[in-house]
Amino acid sequence: VDRCPSCRARLNESPLCPRCGCDLTLVLRAERQAQHRVRLAIQATAAGNRNLAATHLNASLALQRGKLVAALIAMLAARQTGAETGRFREVEDQ
Ligand SMILES: [Zn+2]
Repeated sequence: VDRCPSCRARLNESPLCPRCGCDLTLVLRAERQAQHRVRLAIQATAAGNRNLAATHLNASLALQRGKLVAALIAMLAARQTGAETGRFREVEDQ
C-alpha cells in the first residue's frame, strides 16, 4: 500500500493516512500477510508441491488482489491442465 485506499493520498510509514486520518493498520497487515503467502507459494512451487502453492496463492488473493498472484495462479493452472501447450498448438496451426 503506497496510497490511501479511500482518498489516494500518498502514505508515509504511519498506519494513519496523513490526509483523511483513515486507520490503515489492517490494510497494511493484510498486505504483509499476502506477501508472506506469496513467498510460501514460491517455496512450495520450487519444492514441486503445486497443491500447496495453489492454497497459499488463493489465501494471498483473498487478502490482497495482486497481478503477480493472479499470474502465478494462471501459470499453475495452465501447467496442470496442459492448456499452455494447447494454446501454442493453436497458434502454430494458423
Ligand atoms: Zn486517506
